[in-house]
Order: sequence, then structure tokens, then C-alpha cells
Amino acid sequence: MSPRAGLVALLLAACGPEDAWVADDALSLAAAPEEDPVLEAGLEQSLDAAGPSVAAPYQWPLQPFDRQHPVRGFLNDPRCPGGYDGTPTSFHFGIDVAGADGTPVFAVEAGTLVVEAKEVLSVISDRGGRTFSYWHILPAGLKSRSHVERGQRLGTIAPGWGHVHLAEVRGGQYLNPLRKGAITPFFDYGAPKVRALEARAGTGTLPLIAVRGTIDLVVDAQDATPVRVEDPRWAGKPVTPALIRYRVLRGATELVPLTTAVDFRTAKLPRERFKLVFAPGTDQNHADDPGRYWFWLRRGWDTSSLAPGELTVEVTASDIRGNTSTRAFSLTVAR
Ligand SMILES: [Zn+2]
Repeated sequence: MSPRAGLVALLLAACGPEDAWVADDALSLAAAPEEDPVLEAGLEQSLDAAGPSVAAPYQWPLQPFDRQHPVRGFLNDPRCPGGYDGTPTSFHFGIDVAGADGTPVFAVEAGTLVVEAKEVLSVISDRGGRTFSYWHILPAGLKSRSHVERGQRLGTIAPGWGHVHLAEVRGGQYLNPLRKGAITPFFDYGAPKVRALEARAGTGTLPLIAVRGTIDLVVDAQDATPVRVEDPRWAGKPVTPALIRYRVLRGATELVPLTTAVDFRTAKLPRERFKLVFAPGTDQNHADDPGRYWFWLRRGWDTSSLAPGELTVEVTASDIRGNTSTRAFSLTVAR
């Protein structure tokens, strides 16, 4: 998706319905902030594949540069103007660093400036073969193709936006600026929450105490921004977890081994995967209106071949730093 399509996505309004039924028969809720070695290894591997220079850290685009700022939108958050079933729908292609309108914005890394559009600047970095783009800023009057230093003032947050959208592009791919070794410092606190599980069949929802036939499992999960957003219209709005995994058990026996459903840790996912990741009922954040994130866990699962009885669906959600919570739901296969 082009950055301009992303801007169009941000400018348009409205998203999907929010009236989806919420399962409340969770068995347990355990949150244990921890570093997950499997998670970390997988992340490092995928970054190595993208090249070593990808991991060169950079500073924040707002002052102070060496302190973490509130981020109110994460990479791959849903952007669904016109509603989930409208088009287009897309993954958010950067992070939204919150700041009051008029706040000065600075280059996170030195490079060559390109004026992309009225409120969009890019800086092609001197190192690492990557480009940073800055959206929703009033440019400081710098000329295209001029050289900017790290920490040089690029402009100010444009009226009405309340944030600068920062994107990091390398090899045509939007990378996750919150991954380790990218924007620095960045800490995450508290695990994402798994809020609900649904069993769906077609456009309907089945009670978890009696599922039958072919079903889709969907999960409502979200994370909180580690530093509180000050603007009350945008404070406390959810962001997406970085990783969602699940397994299915009958008693202590694994029926479905630990499976990754969603992985937002490294790069923006291709737009054509949007409706394979987010399920109906998904809504993006709006001012004074929190978003809701429904993720496909398992699709087209034929339960008719399973023996009737109770199963446990264990869902694990992690943030970009590996803070993880696990929630178990009871699911009963009926005859
Ligand atoms: Zn944005």
C-alpha cells in the first residue's frame, strides 16, 4: 500500500459494527510479564533475514529525543474507513507518536529530505538503506533534496492531527519502529489482554458450550499504550498485540499444538491479508471512540470429526517486548 493510500485511509471515517457478542465463560486469566525465548528468537531471525542494518537504533521525532513518548497507534493496527465490510481496509503502516498540534518534529536520523506531499516529508537515511517518512506535519520550509542532520527540525504537527505518523521503510517494506534496536528508548509494560473468544459459523455465533459442524474461532484482544496519551479524546485507546498464539487441549492432551495466529512484530503485513487477520466486528480507534480488534484464530475448523466433550482453547497474547498473558476458554463440542 502506498503512503498516500494510507493517508486516505486515515482521513476517511467510520468502521465496523461494535455489537459482537462477548464470551464471558473464561476459565482463567493469568498475566505474567516475561521475556519469551521462542518469541525473541523468531523475531531476531526474521530481522537477520531483512539485513543487519535494519537494527540500527534511532531517536524519537519529538523532544526530548532520549525519552519515550506516548504512541497511540501501532504498526498493523486496523485502518478500515467505510466500515469493515467497506473498502479499502488496511494495516496501519507506521506508529502514531502523540503530540499536541504545533509540536516541533525532528529528523530521527540524518539523510536527504524529500517533500512527498503537502504534509508529508521523507528522509532517505545516510546509513542503512532506509527511509523515514513523517506524516501530518507542516514542513519547516526545507527544500527537497537538501540534507538534514539527525535532530534537525523538519516542521510541526499539523492542526487537527495530534500526532506525527512515523514510518520506517526498507526495501519497499514498512518495518515495525517499536521492535528492539529501532526507535530508542522504547519500553513496554503490561501484557495485552485477551478479552473474548467467539465460535462463529457463517455470519452467526455459536455458544461456546455447544459448538458443532465447521466453525471459525475468533478472539478479541488488545494492548494498552505504555505511556499514557494526554489528549483526552485519544487517551486509553487500545492498540493491537504484537503476537497472538493459541492451542487447543482436551484435558492435558494437545489437540492443536501452539500455533501463531497473528504476528505483527517485524513488518507491515500485505494489504490483501487484512481480512485473513482481522475478523468482522473489527473497528479502528476514533476520537472518543475506542477501537475493537477481532482476530481470526482458526478458520473452517470441522469439529464433526472430534469426539464430543469439553476442550480448552488457550490463547496467548504478547506485546513487542514479550510481555505475555494467557487466557483459557472452555469450548464444548456437541453432537
Ligand atoms: Zn498513523
